[in-house]
Amino acid sequence: MLHYDVVVIGSGPAGEHGAVQAAFYGKRVALVEKEAVPGGASANTGTIPSKALRETALAISQARSRDAHGVKLHVSGTVTVPELMGRRGLVTGREHSRIRARLIDAGVEMFRGVASFADPHTIRVTIADGSSQDIRTEVVLLATGTRPAHPAQYNFDHQHVYDSDSILMLDTVPRSLAILGGGVAGCEYASIFAALGVHVYIIDSKERLLPWLDTELSLAMQDLFAMAGIDMYQRIRASRLEVGDRDVLVTLSDGSRLVSEKVLVAAGRVGNVEALNLEAAGLSATEKGTLAVDAHYQTKIPHVYAAGDLVGFPGLASTAMEQGRVAMTHALGKKYQQKVSDLLPVGIYTIPEVSSVGDSEESLRKKGLPYVVGKTPLNENARANLIGEAVGFLKLVASPKDGELLGVHCIGPHASELVHLGSAVMALGGTIHYFTQAVFNYPTLGEAYKYAAYDARSKMKRMGVPGAQASVPVPAALPKSA
Ligand SMILES: Cc1cc2nc3c(=O)[nH]c(=O)nc-3n(C[C@H](O)[C@H](O)[C@H](O)COP(=O)(O)OP(=O)(O)OC[C@H]3O[C@@H](n4cnc5c(N)ncnc54)[C@H](O)[C@@H]3O)c2cc1C
Repeated sequence: MLHYDVVVIGSGPAGEHGAVQAAFYGKRVALVEKEAVPGGASANTGTIPSKALRETALAISQARSRDAHGVKLHVSGTVTVPELMGRRGLVTGREHSRIRARLIDAGVEMFRGVASFADPHTIRVTIADGSSQDIRTEVVLLATGTRPAHPAQYNFDHQHVYDSDSILMLDTVPRSLAILGGGVAGCEYASIFAALGVHVYIIDSKERLLPWLDTELSLAMQDLFAMAGIDMYQRIRASRLEVGDRDVLVTLSDGSRLVSEKVLVAAGRVGNVEALNLEAAGLSATEKGTLAVDAHYQTKIPHVYAAGDLVGFPGLASTAMEQGRVAMTHALGKKYQQKVSDLLPVGIYTIPEVSSVGDSEESLRKKGLPYVVGKTPLNENARANLIGEAVGFLKLVASPKDGELLGVHCIGPHASELVHLGSAVMALGGTIHYFTQAVFNYPTLGEAYKYAAYDARSKMKRMGVPGAQASVPVPAALPKSA
């Protein structure tokens, strides 16, 4: 039998980063992956492929909005969706090479096969011909991710009714697409397909899209969706799908009906736990196939950790990576990174992007904390106008006492990049006065921070906050101790 200090199951973001972290601490690490290629949902079925399609859709909508006279773009009637993911092959291929090289450099040994517990300290790796290899280990990191949920009432034939994996294999760009579920994946695909010229319907049970976002942000997103021609059916469910020769008839819970060429069911995800034989380790999963862990990503069996989508919220590659690293740091008794940062940015790659970090007005009201809002519309930003994407806004939420930055909420071009500046200022305990006094490149989208901060400062001034009236000294560079 083989012996390792750590066995990691799954090579998505949680597994990759967890394995490299454990190897960095000098441990002997094995990583087991059932697929021929590493990277999990992030590189192969979710994040990167959907963003590759989005880049094409974005380029088409940008070309339309940049007033480039004489340039006409349209999607040909014969092109397939995989063909529209122009750079997917290149990016995914580079991700595969990067992940393999990083694991090899770190000294992580890779095994191909389906991993399961033989006992709490033994992982069995089974390959296609049925043969298996047992590996004995001190520590286990479960990072097996999730797959699209398939509610029993829908027949996923992947010809008319698709999930968020198979939708990327569409052999034509449909005339119309009904998306059941207005979560992140549903909203991203809605705006992508709308930009490709598809008539999109969203059918969602909630009163507004992504209700956990800052309310203004979610309402602005809905307005922009409506302007893009997306039909939103809210506070309603699809009760029946009837597949016809050319279209699918969708019956809604109030009895009304709509007809769409294709249907995408974006109804959440379930954990990949079935193959793991968790009982042999003394573990069990929830109904959704997720595992319960503590703040260190430790399960109730002390040497077994779990990270990434398998532990549920927030189900993002960005967080999964950090969870894997924190899990291994704790498991191996190291001090470096004891917890995942509380400042979790959310990036939603709709067109335009939506991104948030920190507190919203709603969360501060719930906490009973006072706040001041500073906001600037991006149609007043020169760079946004130059690129023909002068939509949305940047909104800062700050403490009225001293201007401490508490939250950043943005909808507009490159929102997911823009939010990082605010996130850094928040992490270092900074205030909105940093933005009013900093020199920003011009024209840039980042400069919007200055005008949002001016807006907050004038409100503070009207509230009589000392220091809001005169300029507040801000260090030229952030202090080393911060
Ligand atoms: C359409 C879509 C778009 C997304 N967009 C974004 C985005 O823009 N930004 C973002 O941060 N996140 C995004 N995500 C989420 C992101 O993809 C996931 O959060 C991330 O991939 C989770 O990483 P993970 O390591 O937990 O699991 P995964 O990436 O799912 O990897 C799990 C790995 O485990 C392997 N495995 C499973 N069971 C076994 C077993 N028994 N033995 C061996 N191997 C096994 C699988 O083959 C897989 O390779 C998106 C997801 C989807 C579906």
